[in-house]
Amino acid sequence: ASGSDENDVVVIGGGPGGYVAAIKAAQLGLKTTCIEKRGTLGGTCLNVGCIPSKALLHSSHMFHEAQHSFANHGVKFSSVEVDLPAMMAQKDKAVSNLTRGIEGLFKKNKVNYVKGYGKLLSPSEVSVDTIDGDNTIVKGKNIIIATGSDVKSLPGITIDEKRIVSSTGALALTEIPKKLVVIGAGYIGLEMGSVWGRLGSEVTVVEFAADIVPTMDGEVRKQFQCALEKQKMKFMLKTKVVSVDTAGDGVKLTLEPASGGDQTILEADVVLVSAGRVPFTSGLGLDKIGVETDKAGRILVNKRFASNVPGVYAIGDVIPGPMLAHKAEEDGVACVEFIAGKEGHVDYDMVPGVVYTHPEVASVGKTEEQVKSLGVDYRVGKFPFLANSRAKAIDDAEGLVKILAEKETDKILGVHIMSPNAGELIHEAVLALQYGASSEDIARTCHAHPTMSEALKEAAMATYDKPIHM
Ligand code: FAD
Repeated sequence: ASGSDENDVVVIGGGPGGYVAAIKAAQLGLKTTCIEKRGTLGGTCLNVGCIPSKALLHSSHMFHEAQHSFANHGVKFSSVEVDLPAMMAQKDKAVSNLTRGIEGLFKKNKVNYVKGYGKLLSPSEVSVDTIDGDNTIVKGKNIIIATGSDVKSLPGITIDEKRIVSSTGALALTEIPKKLVVIGAGYIGLEMGSVWGRLGSEVTVVEFAADIVPTMDGEVRKQFQCALEKQKMKFMLKTKVVSVDTAGDGVKLTLEPASGGDQTILEADVVLVSAGRVPFTSGLGLDKIGVETDKAGRILVNKRFASNVPGVYAIGDVIPGPMLAHKAEEDGVACVEFIAGKEGHVDYDMVPGVVYTHPEVASVGKTEEQVKSLGVDYRVGKFPFLANSRAKAIDDAEGLVKILAEKETDKILGVHIMSPNAGELIHEAVLALQYGASSEDIARTCHAHPTMSEALKEAAMATYDKPIHM
């Protein structure tokens, strides 16, 4: 354990917010300790979030391609099957290599790592019940709370991680369910639904709201929902789950239209509850030192990530803003820069969002609905991947690029991409937004041929003028 030497910075939580803040603090010459209760670093993202889900999305996509696409490319074989334990083992290997990698980075940067549950005693002292059963006090001039988030449960539904699972259980099922019901059509539900759908489950997504992924541009969302429906994912929108019965073999869900009306029964082998995430501050002792939170339990901070208690900061999923790993990392770096007496800056309007289904949907900046509601005069430029040579060459041409730009100045306001690798393509748009580029700036930038990125260039041409290939 760390002993009682005073640190410049103590970070509670070793997720993408916390571990990045700890490394950055050490790099800036601050004596730093990071406290993590899980036993491994990387937080939700690395252990039960971004990384294992992307591992399974990739593996299941390979299986799906082998079944449905290889023959079109002239690759034939007599049979293909899923070896679920092997698929899970590859996912677990990816996770454990990466978590150990962060421990290595801690050593390299001389971040002191304490494994245990941290609890605030004062604005400069954290009591830690260590994993090996001891207790130690860690002192610091500055404390950063990076305790992240947890699954939001729904009233009357008990998650047992076997038949009624959270995303964590859905990442570790030991059998492919025949029928999977996903409650909540956010990106986590759609990603996990895709994984199991590709492996053979019949997937029904039940959503209270009228739309899937509420933050998405409406036009792109429509095409996205069609793409998922083509993959046999079923949607029951504007539908409320009234109760869940696990008395029999499977699970029986009682459903009702969101606005009230006749009830129906839906049967499932496994139910995934993915109705959102809530900030995690349980047992942390926020009350004890008087840290202010909002109604949702998120810690309130100013632009410098400082809470109302001097010396106590918070970053990542536990504060307001997009609940995303890369946002938590940006928070972490900026927060530590402020502590070190430098300047930091995170613009939440420029945080890209990606849904890692197939096709992927990636976006940055404003949706058309948001631009309209701001009353800005705007232009839209679109380009379908059906007209992109690379997408046609690889026979994977579903999707489009959509750019919104201010009419008067041509300044880009938002970019939305649906395509196989949209999550990689979006960063050109993020950079463009960050530098205040116009659509003409992108259109006049030479893009390599043949690439999917050319669709962005063509959409930019379509925004202020005309595309060539449409
Ligand atoms: P966390 O990652 O939650 O880390 C907080 C850590 O603090 C945890 O390890 C916890 O054990 C520890 N902790 C809590 N309290 C204490 C305490 N008192 N003492 C000691 N330790 C404590 N985001 C993306 O950007 N891209 C994705 O593709 C993506 N996919 C996801 C898929 C799933 C299934 C899920 C669930 C989430 C996904 N996310 C994704 C969201 C992402 O995981 C979070 O936004 C991110 O992990 C937040 O980072 P954080 O550091 O704030 O918190």
